[in-house]
Amino acid sequence: MRFSKAYIPTTKEAPTGAVLPSHIFLARAGFVSQVAAGLYNFLPLGKRVLKKIERVINEEMERAGAQEVDLSFVTPAELWEESGRIHKFGKELLRFHDRKENLFVLGPTHEEMMVNIVRNRVTSYKQLPLNLYQIKTKFRDEARPRFGLMRGREFVMKDGYSFHATTEDMDREFDAMEAAYKRILERLGLEFRIVEADSGAIGGSGSKELMVIADSGEDTLAVCDRCEYGANIEAARRGARRDVPKAPEAAFSRFKTPGVKSIADLAEFFHVDPYYTLKAVAKRAIYEDRDEIVLFFLRGCDDLQEVKAVNAVGALDIVDVGEEELTAKGFVPGFIGPMELEGARCVFDTALQGATHMICGANESDYHLVGFEMGMLEAAAFAELYEAKEGDACPCCDGTLTYTKGIEVGHIFKLGTVYSAPLKAEFLNEQGKSEPFVMGTYGMGVSRLVAAVIEQSHDESGCIWTKATAPYLVNVVVSNVKEAEQLEAGEKLYAELQQAGVEVILDDRKERFGFKMKDAELIGFPYTVIVGKELQNGMVQIVERTTLERTDVKIDALLATLMEMIG
Ligand code: ATP
Ligand code: MG
Repeated sequence: MRFSKAYIPTTKEAPTGAVLPSHIFLARAGFVSQVAAGLYNFLPLGKRVLKKIERVINEEMERAGAQEVDLSFVTPAELWEESGRIHKFGKELLRFHDRKENLFVLGPTHEEMMVNIVRNRVTSYKQLPLNLYQIKTKFRDEARPRFGLMRGREFVMKDGYSFHATTEDMDREFDAMEAAYKRILERLGLEFRIVEADSGAIGGSGSKELMVIADSGEDTLAVCDRCEYGANIEAARRGARRDVPKAPEAAFSRFKTPGVKSIADLAEFFHVDPYYTLKAVAKRAIYEDRDEIVLFFLRGCDDLQEVKAVNAVGALDIVDVGEEELTAKGFVPGFIGPMELEGARCVFDTALQGATHMICGANESDYHLVGFEMGMLEAAAFAELYEAKEGDACPCCDGTLTYTKGIEVGHIFKLGTVYSAPLKAEFLNEQGKSEPFVMGTYGMGVSRLVAAVIEQSHDESGCIWTKATAPYLVNVVVSNVKEAEQLEAGEKLYAELQQAGVEVILDDRKERFGFKMKDAELIGFPYTVIVGKELQNGMVQIVERTTLERTDVKIDALLATLMEMIG
């Protein structure tokens, strides 16, 4: 491609309100242009990057035996009624009527559609397993579309769905997809981590996320400093505590604790480690048709992980409850404890199983109970509620957990029969009995990946593409196109590189050299070859985008040198 003919509208203007480097640079370098909140046009350079990522995905899917399909974007709402998700999905699901008043939705994900494709067509275990995928536009009317391609309303997703006769076979495919996703991200040249994840609204058991490591990532990951263990903070576990503090010895009794409301005050008042205090966190759990107050109990040293809490009570969401409301309902904020407590559902963190020597609220203003033991309660519902912290023990080895930030670029789920059962998608097993398909689902954010590459690698001047994602690998800059020799040498190199199969762009614009180099850095081609004054000595220069290092090369040796660098 010749720069002089290309449509690459670079600009100095950053989009208003943009904070993320990928948002700023992809717009400034002419990869994308914004149409409206969360809606983007891909311009030629952006489309090239997108296609490169898609190609790697397609190759790895082909290798893994998955088959590409292309499903209708506009989806009949009945399918969403059948699965029951139309009520759960909320406002992110864009619904509309056609001229005949039929209700449709714009596909935010395609489980229902994909199940519908195989139902009544795949009827025997002999036709299984099957893995179908597509690379397709999705629409989610996100509440806060921001961060450019990172969180669009319209975006491109690779979504795959597999169908199996048994759970074992689904587990096998899940592992194969994890391996394929790993290869995709490796080929794209990204630093990433595969972590355990929460299964969210889509449901099912067992899920993993593929996280591109970047400071700007919206997700916090707890990762082990020694082994492969990593988890989204929403699902992170920890090993047994190594330094359990000394227990305070006290017989069970009621103690006056005037004004001692917080865990910190309580620990100080009794000179105990917060580990031996009981924290009560009151929340309102929101369900489809109702809401209720739930009290979550944890050790004082732990914090409530809200996603775990939502899952523990099967709610759509949990929100804070004000002290006034709690008081009006008969609770005593600051002194809430589990003994003789009425009027709310209680859930205890698993770290409290068998806990003794505890101090907890007495459900009476200015009083606490000491020497409380979990065994004193007639019944208690336990669930994992704690948030794993930096410094906690790894649940898998004797390493320690640390936090890092990640961008979710992929999510793979073991779905089981959560869609096939309600949608009555069944097959006949070996015994001739009808059973719902066992399913897996595998999503990858293709347009988000474009942004993730830049979040992971950029500098103050612009984008730094990996070799596999760069719109062009080499940019040949003719310093001054009015110099016939320079232009001629540039043209020759351009032709040679093209012949060698290198994706190359020739900057033959009648612009100043400095301006062209600024564009080169902003766009982020991995290699820029400068054909300039040194040509008279038979020399050109290679600039590597990652380091901005310059290497002088004899023009005759350019191709060989570049090929070696490219590897
Ligand atoms: P997030 O937690 O970031 O909202 P999600 O968990 O809702 O994502 P999934 O339903 O798992 O997303 O979708 C699969 C993949 O699609 C995600 O891993 C992500 O890479 C991508 N994706 C999801 N929402 C968006 C969006 N609004 N813009 C761009 N990519 C998205
Ligand atoms: Mg997800």
